[in-house]
Amino acid sequence: MPKTKKVGPTRGLGVRYGSTVRKRYIKVITELRKPHRCSQCGFVRVKRVSVGIWKCRKCAYTFAGGAYTPTTKLGVVARRAAKGAVAEETAKPVATTDSTVDVEAVAEEETTD
Ligand SMILES: [Zn+2]
Repeated sequence: MPKTKKVGPTRGLGVRYGSTVRKRYIKVITELRKPHRCSQCGFVRVKRVSVGIWKCRKCAYTFAGGAYTPTTKLGVVARRAAKGAVAEETAKPVATTDSTVDVEAVAEEETTD
């Protein structure tokens, strides 16, 4: 049987939106649809409830994350920066500006991509 019927997440889109956008859509949608690991119980049962809202079907742990993935690179960086800021505050009163510069650089990379 010849492979004439196109299958995949973009089969409903046809030739619309261009190949670059469709490729990007496939990448995002496959990431969105596959079950993700729960940071609370460790089971791979996290599904997206709505944009940026994720829920674990095992322990009912609901949390805010990225629009298409439970965790984003930017979110991890932001969390690390927030933790680092708290640690720096308690450790020494004069905080260096190094961490904030790093966050801004990464944020720019994320938006331009
Ligand atoms: Zn869980």
